[in-house]
Amino acid sequence: MAKPPIVGALALQGGYASHIAVLSSLGADAREIRTVTELAACDALVIPGGESTTLTRLLMTPGTGYGTDRPWEPSPLWHAIRDFAHDKPVMGTCAGLILLGRSDGDERVVPFEAIPVTVARNAYGRQTESFITRIPVDIPNGDDRERGPYPATFIRAPKIVKLDPGVEVIARAPGANGATDPVMVRAGNLLGLSFHPELTPEDRRIHRYFLSLIK
Ligand code: GLN
Repeated sequence: MAKPPIVGALALQGGYASHIAVLSSLGADAREIRTVTELAACDALVIPGGESTTLTRLLMTPGTGYGTDRPWEPSPLWHAIRDFAHDKPVMGTCAGLILLGRSDGDERVVPFEAIPVTVARNAYGRQTESFITRIPVDIPNGDDRERGPYPATFIRAPKIVKLDPGVEVIARAPGANGATDPVMVRAGNLLGLSFHPELTPEDRRIHRYFLSLIK
């Protein structure tokens, strides 16, 4: 039997354990990742939901600039993740999407700017306005597509407010005034989701699709 792919989940903060459970149930060798060395062994990486400002702080090292706006700088692990995202599959969910995309000007996050989309934090409202909704998806599956509705969990979710050309939209959710918002996108080897697929372990289509991106 072929060796299972090694899939890391960034385990600094947030919902990494639930991602590991789903990935393991699909046969991956899923591991908690906290160091550059652990990341180097991986074929793919999940950046989980949590809190992007906290994740940013944990991915920074103190800088030298007392009294400057940003008295810290990206750590070796931050740089290693950015380099990893150049050619290996990375899935960012919720806070992970915020880190993989581009900030809409919130300086408390230092994103990788790997997926060419602009992301607004907390744009679906506060924690008490979290919700689950069934959304249509359009997930490639070999020559086929999987289109059945997906129960998507939004928790203080970020909104994709600008998509650059070439970014593929895999799922949309109803937005304001009858419009729809992109809530799951793909750019090459990278997936970004506003919602939490790890909280719907009974529907593993999204993690299965992510694993299919591993070469
Ligand atoms: N609102 C959070 C943030 O800004 C993300 C919430 C989540 O990951 N569920 O990071």
